[in-house]
Amino acid sequence: QYKKLKWASAFMFLIWGLGLWQASNIIAYGEQQRYADQVIFDQQTNYQRIVLTENKGDYWLFLNGNQQLSTLDEVNYHEAIVHPMLSKLKQPKNILILGGGDGCVAREVLKYPSVEKITLVDLDPAMTHLAKENPVMRKINQDSFHNPKVQIINGDGFTFMADHPDYYDGIIIDLPDPKNVDIARLYTVEFYQLCYKHLRPNGLMVTQAGSPYYAEEAFKCIDKSFQAAGFSTLPYHTHLITLGEWGWVMGSKNIPQQNMKRAFEKLNFPDSTTHWINQDAMKMMMSFGKSV
Ligand code: SAM
Repeated sequence: QYKKLKWASAFMFLIWGLGLWQASNIIAYGEQQRYADQVIFDQQTNYQRIVLTENKGDYWLFLNGNQQLSTLDEVNYHEAIVHPMLSKLKQPKNILILGGGDGCVAREVLKYPSVEKITLVDLDPAMTHLAKENPVMRKINQDSFHNPKVQIINGDGFTFMADHPDYYDGIIIDLPDPKNVDIARLYTVEFYQLCYKHLRPNGLMVTQAGSPYYAEEAFKCIDKSFQAAGFSTLPYHTHLITLGEWGWVMGSKNIPQQNMKRAFEKLNFPDSTTHWINQDAMKMMMSFGKSV
């Protein structure tokens, strides 16, 4: 009788184990189904779900299901956010990046030899660890996080701006879109005023500003918030293969508003190290026709 009971409980245990295995497979399969391509990295961190996918040698990075970069057009995105500002600044030395945990903004900033220090403040240590150690990410960001000029600080960008006394020649804000209250704090006038205080008198600040086509109100609102914080502004945009129409807002402390466009018309981009951005591209990016 006892032997029979032992076999029965072993059998039940086996069924329970199989059930558990099957359930975890279903969850993993479900997660895979959310992405069109093969998931090659998937981590739920304290802050977000980080997913990296691959399709025929191209890679996509998602945070909480929202695309952050694709190797199909990340170069265009990152050249557009970095080079207008860095080319305009005279001999920039000290650059602050808020967000940018994938390492691609830092990769572009490092193309300017005058830059001595890049401070990068990103909320999620798992994200910056991935960018620093994962072979796919290291190839994409060209090992920018291993460059001794780059100092990574893991923390909230708002808190950092409120607590730190340093001044910068340029501030680059590469954060997710303001889709929830946590991140929306970093798109407020209050936040931009803090940034303003930490910029040198001839400094520039730029932020990714979402899509002027799909989220026109948000795009215009970012521009207005920059102005309310004291900046003269230059909104600009381009078409990206995977994201569609995309835009950025540049802010200056010392260029009068009416001169902003002219000030960015004849920049000397580092053509030998960039892929597509040049004076002609910049002229097109500054033109909105009648829409915005
Ligand atoms: N290019 C992207 C896009 O199109 O939305 C944004 C770049 S992505 C690398 C944004 C980074 O912002 C992530 O690494 C994330 O960890 C970081 N982040 C999110 N909230 C933050 C916060 N409050 N302070 C600093 N970094 C934050």
